[in-house]
Amino acid sequence: MYQLNANENPYPPLPSVVAALAGAAGRANRYPDRFSTDLTEALARRLDVPTAHLALGAGSVGVLQHLLHALVRDGDEVVFAWPSFEAYPHLTAMNRGVAVQVPLRDETHDLDALAAAIGPRTRVVLVCNPNNPTSTAVGRSALERFLDQVPAEVTVVLDEAYREFVTDPDAPDGIALYRDRPNVVVTRTFSKAYGLAGLRIGYAVAHESLAAAIRSSAVPFGVTAAAQTGAVASLAAEAELLERVELVVKERERTATALRDLGLTVPHSESNFLWLPLGGRTEEFAAACAAAGVAVRAFPGEGIRLTIGEPEANDTVLTIATSFASS
Ligand code: PMP
Repeated sequence: MYQLNANENPYPPLPSVVAALAGAAGRANRYPDRFSTDLTEALARRLDVPTAHLALGAGSVGVLQHLLHALVRDGDEVVFAWPSFEAYPHLTAMNRGVAVQVPLRDETHDLDALAAAIGPRTRVVLVCNPNNPTSTAVGRSALERFLDQVPAEVTVVLDEAYREFVTDPDAPDGIALYRDRPNVVVTRTFSKAYGLAGLRIGYAVAHESLAAAIRSSAVPFGVTAAAQTGAVASLAAEAELLERVELVVKERERTATALRDLGLTVPHSESNFLWLPLGGRTEEFAAACAAAGVAVRAFPGEGIRLTIGEPEANDTVLTIATSFASS
């Protein structure tokens, strides 16, 4: 079965990463470094940020949980676009917050509506850029205008889980935006571009007091030694991993063009997945994919989120789409 349903990287870890993980496995009787010192230092160098601006967690979803736990009190509002990442309503409810969902417009964040939804109880705004599941990214100047409207006491999270797949030069880089904005947090992950989804390692970048608040809500020893070692080894092999990202991006463009040539609507993707707004035909398409050995993610009645995978997996979906488009 091809797994094009979880926005994972189709490539297994590099041999150098596997070798580092084998070393970590042999030391598994010991607790991990609670402060993830080596990884924090490597990330600080890579991103050109102070180590005090970093907070690590078990995946970026773990970091998001720490952040909401630190900032949200009973009845506080968490504002985000919808549809977006499914963990947002779940984590908001877990932290006794109230989710305020703002509909997307044309499959993209409606930043004016998002700004208008901020009220006196709003503590956090989550901006998923590129957005899961619709794959679109907001432009830099539009995002900057939005950030300028957000009150200083409201924290804005720029969820950049897919940032490494962005190719549009006009798409914002959260790391550049956070530098002179103390209320902005950027979250990123090793799960997607770096292919370490199974190890659970993600991070937040924010100014010192916010980063410290996120760290203070973290589960002690929540980031395993394997995750730390795998992430450090991946940063050391980054050039090779980013070549794989380029291959995925090429496949994304090839697959999107072929689907559009069949007459299907495919919004412009800046991520490692495509959004097919098939409406009432969603389940039919997902069933055809499953029958051909490809798992895709169906949002019933709305559309399919198709992760870009191995070229042969993408080809299988294109074959299905060809008969689907003509039926
Ligand atoms: N943010 C977004 C937008 C995602 O799509 C995902 C994974 N599907 C995550 C965060 C979480 O990824 P992880 O916890 O593996 O870092």
